[in-house]
Amino acid sequence: MTDERHPALEGTEIADSILDLIGETPMVRMRRISEEQGIECSLVMKHEVTNPGGSSKDRPALEMILAAEASGELRPGGTIVEPTSGNTGVGLAIVAAQRGYSCVFVMTDKAGKEKVDLLRAYGAEVVVCPVAVAPEDPQSYYKVAERLTAERDAFRPNQYQNPHNAVAHVKTTGPEIWRQTAGRITHFVAGAGTCGSITGTGRYLKSQNPDIRIIAADPEGSVFSGGSGRPYLVEGVGEDFFPAAYDGDLWDEVIAISDEESFLTARHVSQTEGILIGGSGGTAVAAAIRVAREADPDDMVVVFNPDSGRGYLSSVFNEEWMANFGFLRRCDQCVGAVLDARNASIENLLYVNPTQPVSEAIEIMRANGVSQLPVCKNTPPFANAEVSGSVDELELMETIHRDPGAMSTEVEKVMGAKLPTIGVGQEVELAVQMLETTPALLVLSGGRPLSVLTRTDLLSYFTSVAEGTELPGTDLPTTGA
Ligand code: PMP
Repeated sequence: MTDERHPALEGTEIADSILDLIGETPMVRMRRISEEQGIECSLVMKHEVTNPGGSSKDRPALEMILAAEASGELRPGGTIVEPTSGNTGVGLAIVAAQRGYSCVFVMTDKAGKEKVDLLRAYGAEVVVCPVAVAPEDPQSYYKVAERLTAERDAFRPNQYQNPHNAVAHVKTTGPEIWRQTAGRITHFVAGAGTCGSITGTGRYLKSQNPDIRIIAADPEGSVFSGGSGRPYLVEGVGEDFFPAAYDGDLWDEVIAISDEESFLTARHVSQTEGILIGGSGGTAVAAAIRVAREADPDDMVVVFNPDSGRGYLSSVFNEEWMANFGFLRRCDQCVGAVLDARNASIENLLYVNPTQPVSEAIEIMRANGVSQLPVCKNTPPFANAEVSGSVDELELMETIHRDPGAMSTEVEKVMGAKLPTIGVGQEVELAVQMLETTPALLVLSGGRPLSVLTRTDLLSYFTSVAEGTELPGTDLPTTGA
C-alpha cells in the first residue's frame, strides 16, 4: 500500500484510488420545489450521494481512520470494530478495503437484511446480536462490541465520541460549500445524528462569515429540539443523548419535523426534482423550505442531504409500509372512518403504563367496557406514546386465577405481545381480515398510536353504514403524495 500517485496518472483526470473520490460532492438548485413553494431566495442542496459509499459518512470514516493511523492506534493489517448498521459502516468498510484493514460491524437483529448484506459485500464481517437483551447481557450489542475490540486488539472509531468526525467536515464539507457558493451562502440547514456534519460544517462556515445562520432540522421527539428521546421512525438523525460533537451554541435555530412531514417531503422531492433522497434528507429539506419561505430574495439557503432514497425502498418508498404506519390514505372509506363513527364520548386511546399494577389495568378495562389495552410509556400527551405490549382480559383472568397475588404485579411483567397495527388510511377490508385472527388492532396515524380497533367497532360501523349515517373519512394525504 502506497499513498503516492502513480507517475502514469500525471496529467490525467484519473483518481488514484476510490478514497480520492470522497468529497467534492455537487450542489444543485431545488428549482421546482422553489417555484411550487413560492420561494424567492436560492434554495440549493449539497448532495452527498456521489460519495463512493453513497453518503456523507465516507468523509468522517476516512478522517477517523487516517487519524488513528497517525496516532498509532491503528497499525498495518489491523482490525476496526464499530457498532453500526448505517452509512458510517459503509464508509469504514470502503476505507478498510483500500487500506488493508479488517472490519467487524456489530449490529442488532433489528437491522434489515439488506444492510447486513451491503456491509458483507465490501468484505466486512458482521456480527448480529439479539435486540431483546439487556445492555449488561454478554450477548448485547454493546458487550459484544467491547469483547471483540479487546479480543482482536482492534481500533474502535466510536463516531459519537471521536473528534475527527466533525473535523472531517471542517476540512472538507465546509470549505467546499463556501467555495461552491462563492461565499454567498446565508443559511445552512442540516439534520444532526452524531452532530459531526452540522458542527464541522457550521464551524467552518461561521469562521468565514459569522452571520451565516446554522439551522438544525430535528425529528420531533429527539433531544436536540427539546424532546424526551422517544422513538421516531426517521433514521440517522435525532438522538436520545447529546453526542460529543453537539454544540448548541453554534445553532441559530432548531426546527422539529414530524416523521410524517419528513417522509412525505422525501417522496415529494424525489418525484418533483428527480433527486432521490432518504427520510433524513426529507427532514432537512422540510426545515429548509420553512427557512427559505421566510428568507430575503438575495439569501442562499443550503440544505445538506446526507444520502440516497435507495436505502429506503422498503420503508419510505414502500406503499404498504407507509400505509401501515398511517402516513398514507389508500381509500375513501378507511379505518379512520370506522373510528369517526364511534361514540364520541369514548376516549380515542385507552392505555395502561408498564409500571401500573394489574389491578389498575383491570379497572380501566372495566370502567370503559373494553377487553384489551395497549401498554404505553410516556403518555400522556398521547403524541408521545411508546408502545411496549398489550394486556387482554382473558389472559389477565388466567394469570390471576393461577396466582391471585398477581393483582399487584406490574403490568409489564405479565403483558402480552404488542397488538398488530393498521394505518388510519388503510382499507376497512384489511381490518376485517386481520380481526379474524386477533381480537384488536392498534391504529396508527403519522406513525403514532391513535386508537384500538375491535370487532365491535367494525360491527357498529357496518350498522351505521347500512343505516346511511356513517361519517366522512379522515383527511390524510393520498397515496403517492
Ligand atoms: N442522515 C443519515 C441517513 C445518517 O446516516 C446520518 C449519520 N448518522 C445523518 C443523517 C447525520 O449526520 P451526523 O452523524 O454527521 O450528524
